[in-house]
Amino acid sequence: MKTPPEVLVRRQAYYQANKERILANHRAPEYLAKAAAAAREARLLNPEKQRAANRKRRDKVKLEVLTHYGPGGVLGCSWPGCSITDVDCLTLDHVNNDGGWHRKNAPKKRRSRGGGAVLLGDY
Ligand SMILES: [Zn+2]
Repeated sequence: MKTPPEVLVRRQAYYQANKERILANHRAPEYLAKAAAAAREARLLNPEKQRAANRKRRDKVKLEVLTHYGPGGVLGCSWPGCSITDVDCLTLDHVNNDGGWHRKNAPKKRRSRGGGAVLLGDY
């Protein structure tokens, strides 16, 4: 059900008039603890909804990352001549298949990400 516009206007006026107090209350440790507990409870009560939200967030990040590291910043496989653009078939991997070497030898801070990413069709 959609909230009527006059109610939205009234809420907005109330918020503007009480902004400082509302924001201070929302930063209070008791409020934050209560909100975290309520969120935890909602997650436990709706596992399907939680799974769907997690999937949606992962898919969004995957698309963003694969697009960023794709050839020319476009979603697609980096193998020469390969035209796969299906996000479900693409994954990140090391350009020279040197992930193991990199894990052993790269400076600790960069171990998890260096080596040059490439997209591969994996099925
Ligand atoms: Zn490919």
